Amino acid sequence: MATRTRFAPSPTGYLHIGGVRTALYAYLYAKKYGGEFILRVEDTDRERSTDEAVEVILEGMSWLGLAADEGPFYQTKRFDRYNEVIQALLDQGSAYKCYCTRERLDALREQQMAAKQKPRYDGLCRDSDCQHEDDAPYVIRFKNPIDGDVVIDDQIKGQVVINNRELDDLIIARTGGVPTYNLTVVVDDLDMGMTHVIRGDDHLNNTPRQINIFNALGAAPPLYAHLAMILGDDGKKLSKRHGAVSVLLYKDEGFLPEALLNYLVRLGWSHGDQEIFSMAEMIEKFDLKDVNKSASTFNPEKLLWMNQQYMMSMAPEVVAQHLQYQFDLAGVDVAAGPALEDLVVVQRERCKTLKDMLAVSRYFYEDFNEYDEKAAKKNFKEAAIGPLEALLDAYAVLEDWQKEPIHGVVMAVSEKLDLKMGKVAQPLRVAVSGTSMSPGIDDTLVLLGKARTLQRIERAIAFTKAKIA
Ligand code: GLU
Repeated sequence: MATRTRFAPSPTGYLHIGGVRTALYAYLYAKKYGGEFILRVEDTDRERSTDEAVEVILEGMSWLGLAADEGPFYQTKRFDRYNEVIQALLDQGSAYKCYCTRERLDALREQQMAAKQKPRYDGLCRDSDCQHEDDAPYVIRFKNPIDGDVVIDDQIKGQVVINNRELDDLIIARTGGVPTYNLTVVVDDLDMGMTHVIRGDDHLNNTPRQINIFNALGAAPPLYAHLAMILGDDGKKLSKRHGAVSVLLYKDEGFLPEALLNYLVRLGWSHGDQEIFSMAEMIEKFDLKDVNKSASTFNPEKLLWMNQQYMMSMAPEVVAQHLQYQFDLAGVDVAAGPALEDLVVVQRERCKTLKDMLAVSRYFYEDFNEYDEKAAKKNFKEAAIGPLEALLDAYAVLEDWQKEPIHGVVMAVSEKLDLKMGKVAQPLRVAVSGTSMSPGIDDTLVLLGKARTLQRIERAIAFTKAKIA
């Protein structure tokens, strides 16, 4: 049987890195075994689901390159099918209508709590026909087996055994007929032919219930693998504050999808000491048996490190495509400056994200209004006028606008004026970039082009003269 896995997010919150890791593991597992990966949007909770969250799922998965072989399927389009299964369960006596009122259930719960018992439905409507008006509202409950164990052969956690006495009769359809999560998941996992369900261990409680429903339907349940949680560096459940924000925010913050996936694959799985994995390697080496049983800690510093590793090692033209997005986001016109792949080559050593790269590169594309205050104060003194004027003259007549001759001019001016190179190069750097930090001055000038260089030197001379006057 071909391996089939799925990612089944609920669009009640934005897809964040925890969800992405689950999706990635399910994707890798399917690909490793030559199977299929399915995307299913579990949107039955109409009140809490939003179209925006669905968009984040679709866009996020596409940005990450985690393409589904089938789907997206939407649960809200499958109500007829769920109702059919609920009816079948009723017909075969595996489910029943429960007319218990809210008041009765509340009183029952209070009684149980007072007696220090775990609150559970007592099964009043299960066997006896409980008293009710003909048109009284009801829910539909699944007849959970009374005794015996449910054994989960968890592919990560090992064997988990739950006694049926721990489980009560779960509601599978609410008043009005809306099916509940545990029912819809089983119907879908069955209809969609899932062989492996890989999901967060916050669902471990649901698994024995789902296995019982599979059994009642006369179907073999899939294999389950429950992933341990991701914690923040303070040991608490990952929240917004720790970076559990919409995955698209990572795109906007200038992360490469490849780097994010590589970071996430290691967050809970390892293969020796290896840190960097191409997608092909992840698929080859990933396996559920190597997934950690215990929780992992999200480390934003390591993610930044990983991102830089990818910026450094990926082909500049590929990095440039992602950088283009940052320019578009910021409304900076790429056509007004050097080709992005050339920019990537000179800037990537000093940037951890593409957003940083844009931030330190704007002067190549647009004029800046002000000099960095400290840099201007330090470099634009009377003593800088001589070197800047000499540079202006020499660059004005330089035909071959390349690294070496550009560097040659800085050296020649330093020699002629008997100055250390820094006394020439640094005012030049501030003149052209507005800051004291830029790539090598020769790289900077090559990218900036001759016309802009001359114009900015002139401007710096005027600025310095005005300042000292
Ligand atoms: N829709 C559920 C969630 O987002 C996941 C269900 C499952 O994977 O079985 O938590």
